[in-house]
Amino acid sequence: MKLHLQNNFISELPADPSEINIPRQVQQAFYSYVLPKKPSNPSLIHASNEVANAIGLSQADILSTDFLNTFSGSTVYPETRPFALCYAGHQFGNWAGQLGDGRAINLTEVVHENRTYTLQLKGSGPTPYSRTADGFAVLRSSIREYLCAEAMHYLGVPTTRSLSLMLSGDQVLRDVLYNGNPAYEKGAIVCRVAPSFIRFGSFELFSSRKDYVNLKLLADFTIKHHFPHIQGEGVGKYLDFFHEVTQTTLNMIVHWQRVGFVHGVMNTDNMSIHGITIDYGPYGWLEDYNSNWTPNTTDRQHKRYRFGNQPEIALWNLYQLANALYPLIQDAKPLETILNTFSTDYEKEYLNMMQNKLGFQIKKEQDAVLILSLTQLLERVETDMTIFFRNLSNVTKKDTATTAFNTIKDAFYNEKDLNETILKDWHDWFENYKIRINEETLSDTERKEQMNRVNPKYVLRNYMAQLCIDDADKGDYSLLNELFEMLKNPYDEQSNFQKWFAKRPDWARDKVGCSMLSCSS
Ligand code: AMP
Ligand code: MG
Repeated sequence: MKLHLQNNFISELPADPSEINIPRQVQQAFYSYVLPKKPSNPSLIHASNEVANAIGLSQADILSTDFLNTFSGSTVYPETRPFALCYAGHQFGNWAGQLGDGRAINLTEVVHENRTYTLQLKGSGPTPYSRTADGFAVLRSSIREYLCAEAMHYLGVPTTRSLSLMLSGDQVLRDVLYNGNPAYEKGAIVCRVAPSFIRFGSFELFSSRKDYVNLKLLADFTIKHHFPHIQGEGVGKYLDFFHEVTQTTLNMIVHWQRVGFVHGVMNTDNMSIHGITIDYGPYGWLEDYNSNWTPNTTDRQHKRYRFGNQPEIALWNLYQLANALYPLIQDAKPLETILNTFSTDYEKEYLNMMQNKLGFQIKKEQDAVLILSLTQLLERVETDMTIFFRNLSNVTKKDTATTAFNTIKDAFYNEKDLNETILKDWHDWFENYKIRINEETLSDTERKEQMNRVNPKYVLRNYMAQLCIDDADKGDYSLLNELFEMLKNPYDEQSNFQKWFAKRPDWARDKVGCSMLSCSS
């Protein structure tokens, strides 16, 4: 197995001089060298061929002992020096100080076809940033991260990728419900891949410590290697950089809202500078459309990270990044100007995305009214988001409001909830929808095709991940393989997977792991 190594991060940025692996504050350094803990009996559960190819590896490499050893953390790949990043962040709206890679270890950067990737193990043991935790990850959360990142990629949502999922062969103690009942679970290690793992919190770290030398070093490094098209020097360069991060973050959130993804822990340490989804913890997928829903039990009370609040929180996080970059810019005005465009740009992008979901190729400003009334209707009774939008593409220009309504009826969790007023409102909505699609020039078939490219048929429903975890715990990975294959083509009909185009079963409604997830992972 041959990796084309590159070491920009560790060769250009200062390391923590200490290599003592105990939790501590690390000053004036970007990372600490640390070795993954040797797993006692590692085994490969799954690997992504596509990601392997992207970083220059073949199918044969995946099956090699080298692959197993390198991506389980058993051995260190020649001429690499693994390291854990130091960063800080705001958690649930509060300043949390230094955080860092508590259970992630970056192996190396690699280059393939002119693209840089950082390879990172998650769950391979303690680092100086582990604070009070153990640095390990359980199979349950590793499967969730591994599968979801790939599913998101195939949905067209910017994200980290997953290279491999391994069992460590060790047991990890977790108190899933935080109720004083800890139990041993299987340990696992995911290798995730991204251009870099630099976060908003990386900038906040140096800024909060008034370490402006390293703040500038970080900004210059990030721009040079990851935003090379940003030319020029001085303040303008940093503003361009901030503007681009704002735009890519906005784009990511619009995608989340499109597919019904709720991240669950949008802390600033979980916000990638690349505008990609990172750190899949207690995330969830909207099943019934409910903007108030959050999967994260830790957030149950305030619901800070609920579906409908994600754009607002992204903006809040961007404010924190702006504050962190301020010392390099020394002028709040241009930063505010950029931040102010977020809300207006978001409105525009959201409208455009929803118009696409509804099959409107001709864009009309008044569509906003129809869209708002739709989302309000979807909230009235439990309505499955994925099924609703997917089936909506079957409505034809000739349909009556009633036949159109019948097309999406499967999306309701309980038809008995549909009282007369609600039925009447749906009827009115479909009358307007009918008028609107009749203004479109595309044929029914063409419109359906377009809609099916933005309204997935298959997403990683919370209960599906849980079923797969239950099997995997018993050593049966067939469902994991099946879901992985299905989620590669989420927009295709794939009639062989039809059984997964279904509403959440009743047993999963309030089940731990399905509708409620804790941060314990
Ligand atoms: P999260 O919000 O889940 O991404 O994690 C917040 C912080 O806690 C990060 O610094 C993580 O590295 C750290 N962390 C989470 N779980 C563990 C663990 N099991 N061991 C060590 N650090 C952890
Ligand atoms: Mg994190």
